[in-house]
Formats: sequence, structure tokens, C-alpha cells
Amino acid sequence: TTGFLGRLFGREEAPARAPAAPVVRRALDDDMVEQLEELLIAADMGVDTALRVTSNLAEGRMGRRMSVAEIKGLLAAEISRIMEPVARPMPLYPRKPQVVLVVGVNGSGKTTTIGKLASQFNAAGKKVIIAAGDTFRAAAVEQLQVWGDRAGVPVMKADQGTDPASLAFDAMTRAEAEGADLLMIDTAGRLQNRQDLMEELAKIVRVIRKKDPSAPHNTLLVLDATTGQNALSQVETFRKLADVSGLVMTKLDGTAKGGVLVALADKFGLPIHAIGVGEQIDDLAPFDPEDFARALTG
Ligand code: GDP
Repeated sequence: TTGFLGRLFGREEAPARAPAAPVVRRALDDDMVEQLEELLIAADMGVDTALRVTSNLAEGRMGRRMSVAEIKGLLAAEISRIMEPVARPMPLYPRKPQVVLVVGVNGSGKTTTIGKLASQFNAAGKKVIIAAGDTFRAAAVEQLQVWGDRAGVPVMKADQGTDPASLAFDAMTRAEAEGADLLMIDTAGRLQNRQDLMEELAKIVRVIRKKDPSAPHNTLLVLDATTGQNALSQVETFRKLADVSGLVMTKLDGTAKGGVLVALADKFGLPIHAIGVGEQIDDLAPFDPEDFARALTG
């Protein structure tokens, strides 16, 4: 009726709203697919995975006219399809104590992650004990104590240089005696001498298995998102040193969007239990494939 009224009164009506900018569509061609590949590689996804994702996206769609939003949506869907099977919380078993061995290079966020996990389990009513298994680094032990205090969880320590396996054994004994639900064992992250580290980790496992042949129930590998593609070689290395059962990726609150997680999921299929999203005690989140894919594709 306004149009009618407009004509009736002899003046042009103003549009109710500015018209939306026209959506630009471009036919999907080789050049665009190549550009997409480059974007994904720049996002740390790795060449193989980037190629697989773009070829899945392109399949049956070459020549189709698509907007940026449509392409982003398709990319995000491809990525969440890869990530969905690995997005699994850390499994809990009907055992007491459940042993969680935590491995990773120094600086990856092991201590912080142990503190955050301990706090979450403590809040959920589980009795948790932490063992400071990196007995050579006094600073690491101190830092773990700080996190134990924050989480309200006891930290078992030993004199500097004590055999970590002996501390692990004592921690198992205490965890059993006190009826603890979870024992989280921190470990050294010196990759400079892999042979030593491998023997150290193997000895910890051997010793706790004397107490419980099914332990450790989880072996978490902590990875730092800011190391990008390096995370791939860390997984390869640590899988040789220990029976890694799941991953935690830290520092996803910064500029690193963790594209390497897609490559990791594609290549190893290890569960991603949680992500670190800050330095505070509550900054540990479940891994959500859709949120992750959306953040990655912008
Ligand atoms: P560790 O040597 O593997 O035990 O590493 P730490 O737990 O000491 O962490 C190393 C550094 O990374 C510390 O400064 C932590 O505050 C920081 N950090 C750990 N996790 C996160 C995270 O999810 N986000 C951010 N921004 N920093 C983190």
C-alpha cells in the first residue's frame, strides 16, 4: 500500500532498509581450490590433510557458483566430519585408583593441564592425588604444588633426583590406602635424551603395573597449539615412548587455531579429550568439533 500511497501522493518512498550488499558468487575452479588448499596449509593443517579436505569439498561441485559463506560452511562441515570421531572425553573406568599418566615436552602445558583436570575432578566429587614425577626439575615440582593448592588436591613429591618410578610406586600405595579415585602422574618432558626418557616412562609403567596390571588407564599427551606442525612429530615420538591413549591441546586461546589437530585426527585418530583455553584453573574445555571447525574457517 505504501507503493500505492507513494504514487498517489506523487513522491518516491524511501526504502525501509538499505538493500543488502549483493552476495558475490564465483564458480568453483582449480584456481580457487588451490587457494583453499594454501589457506588450509597456512592454518597448520598439513599438506595431505589439506588436499583431502579440498578434494572432498570440490567433488561434484566444480563449476558451481558459490559464495564465500557457502564455501566456509562446506569447509567447516568437512572439518567437523574428520573431528567428530576423535572428540571424546577422557574415559573413566570402574577402578580405584585410576591412573592417568601425563606426558609431553616441557612447556607444553602438562603442569597446568594436570591442575585444571584435578580441579574439575575434585569439583565432581572425586578424590584426586597428583604425583610430581618430573623429579629432576625443582621448578616443575614447585609449580605443580602451586596447581595442587589451587585445585585443592594433594601433591606427592620426592627429593630432587629421586627415581620417578619409586615416587610413582609410593603414590600408588598412598592412593590405594586413601581410597583415591584418581592418581595423576606428571612426567619429565626432556626429549634431548629419548632413550633415557623412554626407559624412565617404561619403568614408571612397570612399577605401577605391579600394583594394578591394568594401569595406567589413560596416558595423556599434552600438545601446545602454538608449535603448529611440530605437534605431529611430538605425537610420533611420544607414541614410541609411551602408549598414548589421548590428547589435550593447550593454548588454543591465542592466535593459534590448532589446525594441526585436523592433521592429527586424520593421521592418528587419537581421541582429543580437552583443550586448554587460558592460564586459569577453569580454562580447560571439552573439545567441540563444530565450534573448532567454525573457528578454524573463520
Ligand atoms: P609444562 O612444562 O609442560 O608443565 O608446562 P606448564 O604447565 O608449566 O605451562 C607452560 C606455560 O604455558 C605456562 O606459562 C602456562 O601458563 C602456559 N599455558 C598452559 N596451558 C595454557 C593454555 O591453555 N593457554 C595459555 N594461554 N597458556 C597456557
